[in-house]
Amino acid sequence: MSIRFIDLHSHSTASDGSDSPAELVRKAAAAKLAAIALTDHDTTSGLDEAVREGRQRGLEVIRGCELGVRCEHGELHILGLWLPEGDGGPTALDATLAQLRDHRAARNRRIAAQLRQCGVDIEYAEVEAISGGESVSRLHFARILHQKGYVPTPQTAFDRYIGPGGRAYVAKETLSPADGVRLLHSVGATVALAHPMLFRYPGNGFAEWLDDTVADLKRHGLDAIEAYHSEHSQADTRRCVDMAARHGLALTGGSDYHGAGKPGISLGRGRGGLRVTTAVLDDLKARRLRQGLPV
Ligand code: AMP
Ligand code: MN
Ligand code: MN
Ligand code: MN
Repeated sequence: MSIRFIDLHSHSTASDGSDSPAELVRKAAAAKLAAIALTDHDTTSGLDEAVREGRQRGLEVIRGCELGVRCEHGELHILGLWLPEGDGGPTALDATLAQLRDHRAARNRRIAAQLRQCGVDIEYAEVEAISGGESVSRLHFARILHQKGYVPTPQTAFDRYIGPGGRAYVAKETLSPADGVRLLHSVGATVALAHPMLFRYPGNGFAEWLDDTVADLKRHGLDAIEAYHSEHSQADTRRCVDMAARHGLALTGGSDYHGAGKPGISLGRGRGGLRVTTAVLDDLKARRLRQGLPV
């Protein structure tokens, strides 16, 4: 049996990716991946379509989401994997996700107003119109700023306008890291700290702070660290692997694929030759089984 690969972090048109959930699954099947997780920001609305397509293509699709949570020094991201199925009705998670999307919408209107103050010709309705999904993000603003010629690349929009320190930056109202972890844990999800090394810690002491944060989140139900990620260097990955071992946490990994929204990142391959094997998935499943959770 040859080695198979997986991708446990991806975005569809349900949030700020450019492929529909079904298209994304078809691309994963074409890339011969064994499993993927769809992890849209603050929404589960793409999951049923992705799971259906996965069944047809013989590809395992894990129900996931990504939450941005606010700590004293900025925004951390957490992934929930193996989210519960709604069985037609809303889950305990859905009400909180709906609230988070309301906060997003309020924030997005403020971003649009600040951009107009900077002389940018933009209405929030345009941003909603290009998003198509439930969860509108700053990446949609970046696309519009780029299309209208205000910035040379979507990435530049973050530096100049909508990223921290930019002229139209607005912080998002959201959960604390502990509340985010507890929420996902309470519905039976496997909870991972996403791309820890992308966090922009102000000043010195990041390693110690992260270690304390991880220890605290583990007490609230954190299961894993996303060691493998498109924007982690090999040194970043090693630090995450060490940290997970120190805290008795599992590892997870994925490309953070957004389709055309993040050019150069492909499903299962990320950027820079990222490869996550099925051994990572097997470990996560073994951990769930030990916890008495379904896989
Ligand atoms: P939001 O969830 O509305 O705060 O938007 C954040 C999204 O914008 C992330 O999920 C990324 O897809 C994207 N993003 C954030 N920072 C950057 C950046 N510096 N360059 C490119 N994309 C970014
Ligand atoms: Mn995104
Ligand atoms: Mn993220
Ligand atoms: Mn992501």
